[in-house]
This record gives sequence, structure tokens and C-alpha cells, in this order.
Amino acid sequence: RGRLEGKVVLVTGAARGLGAAICRAAAQEGAHVMVTDVDVAGAEGTARQLAAEGLSARATVLDVTDQDSVDAAVRATAEWHGRIDGLVNNAGILVEADVASLTEEQWDLVMDVNLKGAWRMTKAVIPIMLERGSGSIVNMSSLGGHFARPGHVSYAVSKAGLLNLTRATAVDFGRQGIRCNAICPGSTMTDMLRQHLESTGDLAAMTEDNIGRNRVGRLGRPEEIGATAVFFLSDEVGYVNGSYLLVDGGRHA
Ligand code: NAD
Repeated sequence: RGRLEGKVVLVTGAARGLGAAICRAAAQEGAHVMVTDVDVAGAEGTARQLAAEGLSARATVLDVTDQDSVDAAVRATAEWHGRIDGLVNNAGILVEADVASLTEEQWDLVMDVNLKGAWRMTKAVIPIMLERGSGSIVNMSSLGGHFARPGHVSYAVSKAGLLNLTRATAVDFGRQGIRCNAICPGSTMTDMLRQHLESTGDLAAMTEDNIGRNRVGRLGRPEEIGATAVFFLSDEVGYVNGSYLLVDGGRHA
């Protein structure tokens, strides 16, 4: 039996990248995975691929900035098997702008997706988790939630905010069986990282520069973030609540 056998897990921002890897890792552990993204074609592609591998996955559209969309996706997920056991708030965007050049619209958009989106999702699944008296919520923070990098102000603030949303959820609902933890990945090769590296210089040179900053001599692999999400989602770690894990190759060790 898998470590998530029979559990229903909803992952946001799962059309590609870390979200898709988390879906695969959870499904391989026996979860029924609801693959969601504002990019519905991408989400359907992820779900189709998993289903072709004999795993249990479905897709639905979900824009975490839109309350009606949140409600509809959560309802569809709950109706699938009558429960929601896990939520991974993975959807996120990165806007490259420093403190002075960032526009108000950019600030609001990043907060709306990265931070408020996670809160909207958390608020929507809690009543369903309370019906069974159990649940695990995983928020995708970042190394950027701990340390400032040039030109990442709105991202850094949103990811730091997610760490305290994680603690607040853990404190408010731990007694009722709902745990909440966060993952703080370092540089892991996805479209988001590629676009960031390309915006700062030559991709190969910037990749090497990035690798040079950690202690394992390579970038992170999406499946390593998937494995970390499974860890937090699993009942085996029922005493892990309000915590976070750096998955950064020892960059800040
Ligand atoms: P990505 O850009 O490849 O994927 C992000 C996904 O989120 C996309 O599929 C996108 O369509 C979706 N999305 C964007 N806005 C959305 C919205 N409003 N509603 C629903 N979905 C939306 O990024 P990734 O590298 O896979 O990153 C996933 C998460 O991990 C993000 O929160 C990111 O900040 C975090 N993270 C990534 C790294 C890294 O090195 N890749 C490091 C630290 C943290």
C-alpha cells in the first residue's frame, strides 16, 4: 500500500513544473489527485499522463484569484470521492522588479496569486477536512521567503507571508486534526526558474552560477519537491505541524 492510499489530494498550479511533479508523487503513493491550474489544457495534460500510467488523476480548471473558481474546483474535488485529505497550495508567480520599480498592479497580482490564493483555498477546504477531523495542507513557500534577492520584492514578501499563513493555520486547526506545513525549495529547474535565469543573463552561465551557490553541485529536481510534499501529506508525520523544510541542496546551511 502507498503512503497516501485512498486519500484525495488537490494540487494548485499543477499544469507543469513542481505542481505536476507533486501530483505524480502523490498519485504514485496511492492518492486520487485533482490536478488544477488556470491553464486547464495543461492540467488536463498532466492528468491524462498520470492516468495513462495507471494512476488516479482528474483535472479541473482553477484560478486561485477567483473565489467562484475556487469554490467550483473544491466542490468538484469533494464530490469525486466524498472527501478532501490534502491540499497543496503550489500556484505561484514571480514578477521581476525592485522595490522602487514595482507597480501597484504587480504588487497586488503577486499577493493575490501567491498569498491570498493560498488563504482562499485553505478557507475553502477546511470545512470539508473538518467533516473527517483530518487533513494536511502544504504551502509552497521558497528560499525567497527567508532571504531577499535583488528584484524579487513582491515574491519575497508573499513567500514570507505564506510561512506565517502556515503557522496560523497550524495553530488554529491543529486540535481539529488539520496540519499545515510549508516547503521552501531552492533553485529547481522548471519554466519559472528558466525564465528567471534568462532574465538575468545567459541561461547556461546563470545556471552554473546558481549551482555554484549550493552544496550538492546541481539544481533541485521537481521529483524531490514531490517527495517532500508526500512526506508532509502522509499520516506518518502526524506530529509535524506548523513547520517548514528547506529543500535547497544546503545553499543556506
Ligand atoms: P511554474 O511557473 O513552472 O508553474 C506555476 C504554475 O502555476 C503554472 O502552471 C501556472 O499556470 C500556475 N498558475 C499561475 N497563476 C495561477 C492562478 N492564478 N491560479 C492557478 N494556477 C496558477 O513554476 P514552478 O517552478 O513549478 O513553481 C511552483 C511553485 O513553487 C511556485 O509557487 C513557486 O513560487 C515555487 N518555487 C519554485 C522554485 C523553483 O526553483 N522552481 C523555487 C522556490 C519556490
